[in-house]
Amino acid sequence: MTETEFKLLTVARLLRERYGRHAPPLETQPDDPLDELIHTILSQQNVGVVTQRLFDAIKQNFPTWRLALEAGSEQIQRVLEGAGGGLAAVKSRSIHRCLTQILELRGELSLEFLRGVSLTAARAFLEDLPGVGPKTSGCVLMFSLRLPAMPVDTHIHRIAKRLEFVAVTASAPQTQTWFEAQLPQTWAARYEFHVNAFQHGRETCKSQRPLCASCVLQTLCPSAVDWL
Ligand code: SF4
Repeated sequence: MTETEFKLLTVARLLRERYGRHAPPLETQPDDPLDELIHTILSQQNVGVVTQRLFDAIKQNFPTWRLALEAGSEQIQRVLEGAGGGLAAVKSRSIHRCLTQILELRGELSLEFLRGVSLTAARAFLEDLPGVGPKTSGCVLMFSLRLPAMPVDTHIHRIAKRLEFVAVTASAPQTQTWFEAQLPQTWAARYEFHVNAFQHGRETCKSQRPLCASCVLQTLCPSAVDWL
């Protein structure tokens, strides 16, 4: 085992001891993958509570995705604006274009078929959809399809740079590629790491004033002294 692999496993263990999050059992029902895709598009530059409000508003106005498709992107935009979210025009266009392409390619508005394909094939299909990048596809792969992807959001990206797992200039997709090469291959291990690292970034390794003095990773972190 390399020094970096050992450090990453130690970080995963310390975060588990601190936050204690574990992946849900495989027999529990995962979210619908198309719902997860739309939810993730809505989450861009939004906090969780706003994302859920936007998603609920869409579901309330369009009980099926076909109704949303038939209503058109301007109508979706009006619903998003009514629910108080930002970037309503961009997101409504993305949602409508995704629905259009899925229907064209599959003949139905469903992504359930992705449960039967490999991680590589599922990722390729998702990232071919308009406006879907590595983070959005990673969320669908991990949270709904339960495949061992490793979506990297702003919190996890920041932690990876401060721990010097990746260069300070690394992009989020590069950091995602690094984690996917280094973390244990199982979905459960990656799910647990993702959830714990996200919580650590939100509560402790904050963007502006990280709480290094109380951080469980302090002795492993080259950036700690800068913030103490
Ligand atoms: S020691 Fe500070 S910079 Fe390093 S991971 Fe912890 S909170 Fe972040």
